[in-house]
Amino acid sequence: MNRNEQLFAAAQQHIPGGVNSPVRAFGSVGGTPRFFAKGEGAYVWDADGKKYIDYVGSWGPLILGHAHPAVIEAVTRTAQNGMSFGAPTEGEVHIADLLCQMLPSLEQVRLVSSGTEATMSAIRLARGFTGRDKLIKFEGCYHGHADSLLVKAGSGLLTFGNPSSAGVPAAVAADTIVLPYNDVAALEALFAEQGDKIAALIVEPIAGNMNLVQPSKEFVAAMRKLTQDHGAVLIYDEVMTGFRVGLQCAQGLHGITPDLTCLGKVVGGGLPLAAFGGRADIMAKLAPLGPVYQAGTLSGNPLAVAAGMVTLQEISKPGFFEALSAKTQAFADGLNAIGQQLANTKTISAQSVGGMFGIYCSPNIPHSYSDVMNSDRVRFNAFFHAMLDEGIYLAPSAFEAGFVSAAHTNTEIQITLDIAKAVLHKI
Ligand code: PMP
Repeated sequence: MNRNEQLFAAAQQHIPGGVNSPVRAFGSVGGTPRFFAKGEGAYVWDADGKKYIDYVGSWGPLILGHAHPAVIEAVTRTAQNGMSFGAPTEGEVHIADLLCQMLPSLEQVRLVSSGTEATMSAIRLARGFTGRDKLIKFEGCYHGHADSLLVKAGSGLLTFGNPSSAGVPAAVAADTIVLPYNDVAALEALFAEQGDKIAALIVEPIAGNMNLVQPSKEFVAAMRKLTQDHGAVLIYDEVMTGFRVGLQCAQGLHGITPDLTCLGKVVGGGLPLAAFGGRADIMAKLAPLGPVYQAGTLSGNPLAVAAGMVTLQEISKPGFFEALSAKTQAFADGLNAIGQQLANTKTISAQSVGGMFGIYCSPNIPHSYSDVMNSDRVRFNAFFHAMLDEGIYLAPSAFEAGFVSAAHTNTEIQITLDIAKAVLHKI
């Protein structure tokens, strides 16, 4: 047994499945998850000392790469003055100001510690604000693990939610309505029928949890118009896309002003920080001002705020997103060029937005959950493992987007493309 295997065996004794978050377990691709010992820039090293080019970046936060010197410096300096107070600190004021300045739809913002808390709190707030209960989400979108959000439509059950996790009370799931992504007609029909009962619509404005799926212009416009017309709160869940697809997030790319926005990942630069915010009249319903309760012992933690602040400052530097987007696009273009040399059944396709990409074992870019389900998952698993063997760490699932960081240079991209080409002709 190598060290990764030893650690995984040991982990399973006291940790369910050996992991503290399920997707780490290589559940769909099979094999032993890598235990990481070190990260630097675009690279990570596993417990056996093997080096990989990392395209996961802790599932998105590490837009600057691993162990960025400015982030380390800020966190270290801050830690010397204490880890947590459970009382206000100056850094929270600065990061709230900066977030509202960077994202015009934010009039007020509250800091939390995970994306799950951000979406869960935004939904409770939307319900408290509207006095309504129903929530719309889309098939294939993930918004964290709060009860009301662990609902996906099973086949044929696209309108009314059925829990896809055990332990979610049917009564809770009943208020979650699941619709297909990019289906304007389904959305219009639902609002026509139940518009006055809808508290909120939550969406990944560019979906990254069913691999990468982009919304159509019509879909984006319909979500904004229908929620507005029917007095429902439009929640953009930008936990993944926020400051990842561009400096003004997906909403900036779409030209949409959502009522509430959820942020996470990049805003914490690798430490547990997330946020939700938006219209001041809605945010005023939050305790201590209003009747909607929401709280957190470690909310706005000084170390997380310090890491987030530096990260946001770095990505705001002129040219940052142009460079990141160009590298990520070059990666997707390179994969598409390789795909064109392969037979249709063995092909690969890819696309990118900002520093986020999707790779599909399919000749076409998907537009829905069912398109993604139709991609060749067996081939993806073979691709994943062959890349891993060659030192390329991709997300261990065909249903996750990938990430390029500022630390990836054209050299890493080219090495990865060369390996991908060899691997794809072999498997
Ligand atoms: N929303 C989206 C869009 C996400 O991608 C995620 C996490 N991948 C979450 C919410 C939940 O965030 P967390 O894992 O920090 O709770």
